Amino acid sequence: MTNVPANANELTIAQARDALRAGDLTAVDLTMACLTAIDAGDTLNAFVHKTPEIALDQARAADARLAAGGAPDLCGIPLGIKDLFCTRGVPSQAASNILRGFRPEYESTVTRRLFEAGAVMLGKLNMDEFAMGSSNETSCYGNAVNPWRIDDRLLTPGGSSGGSAAAVAADLCLGATGTDTGGSIRQPAAFAGITGIKPTYGRVSRWGIVAFASSLDQAGPMAKSVRDCAILLQAMAGHDPMDSTSADIPVPDFEAALTGDIRGKVIGIPREYRMDGMPAEIEALWHRGAEMLRDAGAILRDISLPHTKYALPAYYVIAPAEASSNLARYDGVRYGHRAKLAQGDGIIEMYEKTRAEGFGPEVQRRVMVGTYVLSAGFYDAYYNRARKVRALIKRDFETVFAEGVDAILTPATPSAAFGLGEMANADPVQMYLNDVFTVTVNLAGLPAIAVPAGLDGQGLPLGLQLIGRPWAEADLLNHAHVLERASGFVARPAKWW
Ligand code: GLN
Repeated sequence: MTNVPANANELTIAQARDALRAGDLTAVDLTMACLTAIDAGDTLNAFVHKTPEIALDQARAADARLAAGGAPDLCGIPLGIKDLFCTRGVPSQAASNILRGFRPEYESTVTRRLFEAGAVMLGKLNMDEFAMGSSNETSCYGNAVNPWRIDDRLLTPGGSSGGSAAAVAADLCLGATGTDTGGSIRQPAAFAGITGIKPTYGRVSRWGIVAFASSLDQAGPMAKSVRDCAILLQAMAGHDPMDSTSADIPVPDFEAALTGDIRGKVIGIPREYRMDGMPAEIEALWHRGAEMLRDAGAILRDISLPHTKYALPAYYVIAPAEASSNLARYDGVRYGHRAKLAQGDGIIEMYEKTRAEGFGPEVQRRVMVGTYVLSAGFYDAYYNRARKVRALIKRDFETVFAEGVDAILTPATPSAAFGLGEMANADPVQMYLNDVFTVTVNLAGLPAIAVPAGLDGQGLPLGLQLIGRPWAEADLLNHAHVLERASGFVARPAKWW
């Protein structure tokens, strides 16, 4: 045994990388520290499948590679993987009962790339069922819990990548994969006081990731710092012939882009994101964030994105439409669960019973909404209308970028993390309102990052969002790095679990 700090799981990826390379830490010891933290963190319900044997095998291989020299940045770094990613031989259920027992025979491109770079898989992370939700409460495993809490009130870690956010914030892993269709990386990152980036649509391969809404879905990293997100994104990104929407364009060196120099950059402040009823603390944080960027030499500019108010309704037509089509494959024949049939049941009963048992209420709602908006009589009124609105939202962004804006600063979420159970039984639209600042970005295919920037009056983390030009993740990460340094956010949840 080497002389390992007992709390090696609390390191950032960049710190662990340097310690591993210097021989101050072994991948096996680092992995053991995470596995111990995971077992001690069971109450958080962040990991839904633990893979300690795989982790230790990968860690031993990483140590051999490190010893040989020239190992990649992620060699020996323990990660959690969202349950939406197919991982070979390991349960991959998208937190749905309909995929119970499904163990893919293939590896998603993202996880394959991470493991080829030497990363260690600790297990699969909790999420909302099929990534539909903003609180992790639609998961078939029950919700993950936010490591931040107020007194004894348990809070949501956000959704859908709530398990990823909880696991990173509680130091159960050094980083995690997430996916973002309407905010599922950025909203949970903001709720848990960590950083998460949704890349430009096409930057990261979707191959082997369970599809929710294919024209919006994009995978990205969630980690403890902007630098860690840069390191993870480097390994995840790049063209993949297995995904026809993945772009064949070069991937820059994201970590090298973190110069901290944003002098002369133009930051847009969109007036439409100043929502009625937005808490004053969020407004104040947004203001402070803008001042931090200005103090670093950026130029602030008031901008208008006039179609913003139509984004949420358009998203909640397009996303369910695509979901209803993508989820048609879960028929009781090809994957996972099949309902027990009664004497005389035919194929229709098999579909109906399997889908009624396998899908939770939110997924069923989306399938019904999606089928309705795609139906012959309503297609033009809903789906085509929403697609037109989407084009207008995209054009709003194109216009401001053409006028010289480099990045756009907004709040990440309209509130801090809310209590578990508080919204789950309310009108579903209340839950959908959580995505008000994030869905525009998916509709426009842009990159955006959530950075923790302060605490609210109750002591809960609040995040800011930076939205970038297409393919400008390097620049975006650099802006976020400036914000991260200026805000000096270092608060961690007090350990109670
Ligand atoms: N909360 C949004 C939804 O429920 C976004 C989900 C996501 O990004 N996967 O659709």
